[in-house]
Amino acid sequence: MNLSPLMTHAHAAVADNPWLSQTVRIESITAEIPEVATYELAFVDPVLAARYRFLPGQFNMLYLPGVGEVAISISANPNSRERWAHTIRVAGTVTQSLSRLQPGATLGLRGPYGNPWPLADCLGKDVILVAGGIGLAPLRPVIYELLANRAKYGNVTLLLGARTPEGLLYPGEYTDWQAGGIEIESTVDRASSEWTGNVGVVTLLIDRLPLPRPDQTVLLMCGPEVMMHFTVKSARKRGLADKQIWLSSERNMQCAVGLCGHCQLGPTFVCKDGPVFRYDHIAPFLKVEGL
Ligand SMILES: Cc1cc2nc3c(=O)[nH]c(=O)nc-3n(C[C@H](O)[C@H](O)[C@H](O)COP(=O)(O)OP(=O)(O)OC[C@H]3O[C@@H](n4cnc5c(N)ncnc54)[C@H](O)[C@@H]3O)c2cc1C
Repeated sequence: MNLSPLMTHAHAAVADNPWLSQTVRIESITAEIPEVATYELAFVDPVLAARYRFLPGQFNMLYLPGVGEVAISISANPNSRERWAHTIRVAGTVTQSLSRLQPGATLGLRGPYGNPWPLADCLGKDVILVAGGIGLAPLRPVIYELLANRAKYGNVTLLLGARTPEGLLYPGEYTDWQAGGIEIESTVDRASSEWTGNVGVVTLLIDRLPLPRPDQTVLLMCGPEVMMHFTVKSARKRGLADKQIWLSSERNMQCAVGLCGHCQLGPTFVCKDGPVFRYDHIAPFLKVEGL
């Protein structure tokens, strides 16, 4: 592609404005579990398409003109270069409108925002990923990254929890992940007659997980706050310190750049200080101790 220096500069200025949405097109929509679908988005502008990058754990703000804007984690492969997956659950006004769009439709995207998962801290260590329901979406880029550089990490285990077997996200990818060297254990709250796996909360999986070197283990988790609370309790019992545990928080968010205060958690803003936090840094503000 041949671009004049002026045009390149103009593109850079537009993309670097954190308030400005860029137009993306829906390339494909994959129905995942009830009320949840993955949207693969591509930038219409080829210059932005070529320069867009994100780190596992970051999120974008997706904008539907006349409806509103929502924070959505990027569930794509970070090494992808064209299509950026976002796995979205219908919650209210904006996500409902998004769910009515078809491939080819356009919307606005600004980002990426937020702090990523601490992959550098995981090098050479055993890694436990704990996901509850749609909490697997922000962890999926980590899985792709671990698979791409598998030899750089120790044992990698993915613990999945869902209400029902139909609520387990991305089941079509599990075989590839296991073949790539990731152990997967799953559990459901309510089993169907065909389900032969575990029944119970995800923390039960932690209680019986082989942990050969707890001091060299990092745990990354995302899911309902109550699930994360009990995950920490189980992990502590297995010898993990709070500073070895990281979580992604999905608090209500509006500006995404640390100004409006909607996502304030204690002295931190989830949008710019998170959404990924080290547990000991954020624990005092989660307020679920009594649960
Ligand atoms: C950093 C971050 C990453 C996120 N990643 C994803 C993702 O990958 N996939 C996904 O489906 N959703 C994700 N969310 C949640 C998503 O932003 C909300 O579901 C969305 O904003 C709801 O907007 P709405 O207009 O559809 O619903 P609204 O009409 O605004 O709200 C509908 C209901 O959902 C509740 N709600 C709104 N926002 C949130 C929130 N952030 N957390 C919990 N409840 C909320 C409201 O209180 C209300 O009860 C993420 C949120 C954050 C902050």
